Amino acid sequence: MTNGSRLLGELIDALRCLPGVGAKSAQRMAFHLLERERQGGIRLASALDSAMRDVGNCTRCRNFSETDVCTLCASATRDRHVLCVVESPSDLAAIEQATGFRGHYFVLLGRLSPLDGLGPEELGLPLLVERLGEGEVEEMIIATNPTVEGEATAHYLAQLARQHKVQPSRLAHGVPLGGELEYVDSGTLSHAFGTRSEFRE
Ligand SMILES: [Zn+2]
Repeated sequence: MTNGSRLLGELIDALRCLPGVGAKSAQRMAFHLLERERQGGIRLASALDSAMRDVGNCTRCRNFSETDVCTLCASATRDRHVLCVVESPSDLAAIEQATGFRGHYFVLLGRLSPLDGLGPEELGLPLLVERLGEGEVEEMIIATNPTVEGEATAHYLAQLARQHKVQPSRLAHGVPLGGELEYVDSGTLSHAFGTRSEFRE
């Protein structure tokens, strides 16, 4: 790409590592920053630099954290008896934002996928077993995604929970609120049907 500046070319190239950003949008972003948003650009560069350098994973739950133990794990007000297991930090963020869940989390950073070399070790399950062994957790909410691999992971986790006398529960995946059955895709409908729960008054 010829734009008269080597540094500008490098910036455009670097922006393309963002999801959904192709050559055109990267160029638009770079021009926008240089033309109208120098301060924002400097702030972005500094925030990126610090985050990339200092954000690691919590040694207890594997969520993103710049301290050994993250603020969620360190919180004295959250319920230590309920542990919600998710695939990724973004799933954790979604649950935190959408629900009133006040328990603790464990982040797998993936899902069981032998073909991709993702086994129990890679998902930090020895750490999870250690956690269950502490005896505080009474319920494990398994919030892996309703994909084939997510379901296989959920079954594995449920077994693990039962071995430690912990009650496993699974997020219900089903018909959206306000939805109509005829418009729900068949995969969702068959899953909702297969995982129906007892009707409560
Ligand atoms: Zn943590």
